[in-house]
Amino acid sequence: MVVVVFNEDLIAHAHWEGHPESPMRLKSLMKMLEREGLINDHITAVPVTESQLLCVHSQVMIDKVKGGKGIPLDPDTALHEETFDLACLSAGMAVEAVRHALKGEVSIALTRPPGHHAGPDYSCGFCYFNNVAVAAESAGVRTAIVDIDAHHGNGTQDIFYRRKDILYVSVHEEGIFPGTGRLEEVGEGDGEGYNVNIPLPHGAGNDSFKESMERIILPVLRQYRPELLLVSLGIDAHYADRYSTLNLNTDMYLHLCKMLIEVAPGGCIAFILEGGYHLRATAEVVHGIIAHVKGTSSVAEYAEESGENPRAMEYVQRAVDVHSRHWDL
Ligand SMILES: [Zn+2]
Repeated sequence: MVVVVFNEDLIAHAHWEGHPESPMRLKSLMKMLEREGLINDHITAVPVTESQLLCVHSQVMIDKVKGGKGIPLDPDTALHEETFDLACLSAGMAVEAVRHALKGEVSIALTRPPGHHAGPDYSCGFCYFNNVAVAAESAGVRTAIVDIDAHHGNGTQDIFYRRKDILYVSVHEEGIFPGTGRLEEVGEGDGEGYNVNIPLPHGAGNDSFKESMERIILPVLRQYRPELLLVSLGIDAHYADRYSTLNLNTDMYLHLCKMLIEVAPGGCIAFILEGGYHLRATAEVVHGIIAHVKGTSSVAEYAEESGENPRAMEYVQRAVDVHSRHWDL
């Protein structure tokens, strides 16, 4: 059973012409749903309320998104008439996916705008409200968030940095936006050890990502024993995507997602879409996840092996050394 949460209304969210986070991303995913015969099967959602947003964001920030029409939050994150409503709807899709995941149904929310760069009191990097964070709060259970977007989820990290009831794990490319996600950022106070960053170098490749999963992420998840697993599903680590150089191919993405589905407690897993700007590669990965859960096969068009930075395994080893202070790795 796979639950796909999708709202066509989000096509209305548009930045300037040529912006990578474009309505075409959803149109391309719609085509994929059509091809899968899911276009009438998917579930829609309702926007989150302000009180749900207030669980993770400040009133000042919410008011800024609501009232700042025409004023960009950063050069790539514009505000339009409809931004607030659509950002609330995107977060609502993540909440809806979690509602199903908690029943043991593997769920995937095709959210847009994305969310993981939105922090307690800031919006940036195409993100207004933090979809996965709002969804985690809505669950009210011990939750692990695994972020496989090429960019570090600075917003998600900041929101949960001092908490241990919500674990945040991110594997991302070092040295690109937003510049956070260093190994030493391990959480503070009660949250110390519950923020696990795995930065990888330029050109890292399939093998180091897989190694990060097998040597760090899966053991941490097994030890943490979450009741719910959320995946910030960024597909911009794909080699076809020009916004990172991590060089994953579709097969590796699917392999990673299958491993996460296997480790999820009783099927309680929701994938929440973050970045991913190559239209066909993004649709191919989403399609592959759905096909896997449905027990059908998918053939990857984007299957090239793009090589590996020889230093990438050293980065993984360094991450193992640092996180061994808090976890048995
Ligand atoms: Zn990204």
